[in-house]
Amino acid sequence: PSQAARLYTEDDPVTILTTDTLKQNVHNSSTAWLVQFYSSWCGHCIQYSPTWKALAGDVKDWEQAIRIGVLDCAHEKNFDICKEFEIHFYPTFRYFKAHGSNTDVGKTYRGPDRELQTVRQLMVNFLQNHTKQDWPSHCPPLEPYSSEDILTLLGHKSEQYTAVIVEDADSYVGREVILDLMPYQGVGVRRVLSSDKLLMDRLGVTDVPAAYLLHPNGTHGLMDAQKRLRFFFSSFLKLLPGVHRQNSAFLQNSAHSSSNGHKPTEEWKEFEKSKVYMADLESGLHYLLRVELATHHTLEGEELKAFKDFATVVAKLFPGRPSVVKLLETLLEWAVSLPLDKIPYDAVLDLVNNKMRISGLFLSDRVQWVGCQGSSVALRGYPCSLWMLFHVLTVQAAKRPDALANTALEDDPQAVLQTMRRYITTFFGCQECGRHFEEMAQESMGAIKTTDEAVLWLWRKHNQVNRRLAGSMSEDPLFPKTQWPTPDLCPTCHEERSGIHVWNEPTVLDFLKRHYGSANISPKYTL
Ligand code: FAD
Repeated sequence: PSQAARLYTEDDPVTILTTDTLKQNVHNSSTAWLVQFYSSWCGHCIQYSPTWKALAGDVKDWEQAIRIGVLDCAHEKNFDICKEFEIHFYPTFRYFKAHGSNTDVGKTYRGPDRELQTVRQLMVNFLQNHTKQDWPSHCPPLEPYSSEDILTLLGHKSEQYTAVIVEDADSYVGREVILDLMPYQGVGVRRVLSSDKLLMDRLGVTDVPAAYLLHPNGTHGLMDAQKRLRFFFSSFLKLLPGVHRQNSAFLQNSAHSSSNGHKPTEEWKEFEKSKVYMADLESGLHYLLRVELATHHTLEGEELKAFKDFATVVAKLFPGRPSVVKLLETLLEWAVSLPLDKIPYDAVLDLVNNKMRISGLFLSDRVQWVGCQGSSVALRGYPCSLWMLFHVLTVQAAKRPDALANTALEDDPQAVLQTMRRYITTFFGCQECGRHFEEMAQESMGAIKTTDEAVLWLWRKHNQVNRRLAGSMSEDPLFPKTQWPTPDLCPTCHEERSGIHVWNEPTVLDFLKRHYGSANISPKYTL
């Protein structure tokens, strides 16, 4: 049934299990599993699915130790397996230990409390129920360390950071941070108990939980996270210089680049994360106009409409240098005044490349990535600049309500997003990206009523994409996919309620307007 297919999709951070894949995943596995057997017609299951997705997103970084699955017992294909596993009620939550046998049907969690935080803590307890023999292969130790273990490290150089979380015995923060940092290299996390007075004195810790950081160069001190909470500790550690996600793409890319000599030849450009660079936006426009669109020999019908809308939005809203804005305006005037229902793209190229250069209107004709530089040529660059461009445009639309007056897009709070949507599905070279974006657009873009909501929508969806891509091939290990803005960029954007990270959306909106506003766009590195 279509409902069954929709309750969880491949874009959710859960693993969708079926008759064919349940056993092969949960038996003899190097990780533990927590599986929800649900039924797509059960009201509770439908209501609970957002929590389950949120949980799976929250613990995605734990997946080398414990993974989250779902299996739909209402799907005809799964009738037999649900019978074999004796699933009588929906939802049923089953834990499977790592390295379990072929006959393991899991252990049922019957507690009435299914709140995200409770289930997350149960997952920690469940991991600790393993013995030395069946311990999940990649799961780090979760037991507290002793003072000697820590004190002998003080003052010594090391290849990596060591973070020490000091906490009460009933606190989960230390174990959660240990698990959060599992996929990261360059830092190890340990926990110690506040009952260890000797250690508390030596580290100068008075309030718990606290985090203490030993640097590779031998220095050490209390960690300066904005708040003493799991999310802030984990974010702080993930952002340390030299800490990055282990990533097969990184290894493959570096092997690739050394074998064929395809190293980035450009020198690394220093930049600040807190700024947006005009060089990225202009390089993105250059690539889009001269490379991506140029693969289409003629534009007609939907393509022509998508092109004209795009030209309108950038000409009216792009907060660029006068010569570039003028170029975009000229391009727009030309495009709307053409009586043709078909444009050969060469005519656009001719305009952008030659005619405009003669009149001094100039868009850089090479790419120059700054905030979008990648550690290898295959990473970041254009898609990064495209996100940034559209964030900038949604912010401009919110700040300048009359900018689109007298155009076909006048008075439409969704104007920028619908234009982006058409651009992405019609022209964006990554088709898979287009398909995902279209799904998100269909789900909720139509409900946007104000230009402020449009700014937040794009931010939220971009984070959804970041979450899905974390740890995937397209992640640059030097720029791990995070939920953005990170606390170092905007501490007040983040809050924790009942142990769950939440965004303060009004603050996020203010932040986005400032970050992507024209005053924060740096001209550095523009030619
Ligand atoms: P990007 O995600 O490109 O972000 C660029 C910059 O934007 C970041 O450096 C940060 O400064 C800022 N930023 C990050 N998050 C936010 C946010 N939530 N709100 C505002 N600003 C933010 N790749 C795939 O492999 N699969 C896909 O399905 C896919 N879909 C895509 C859909 C679209 C519409 C686009 C434009 C790109 C898509 N990509 C996809 C590419 C992918 O999202 C990244 O752009 C690419 O991997 C480069 O990543 P990056 O590290 O440069 O950061």
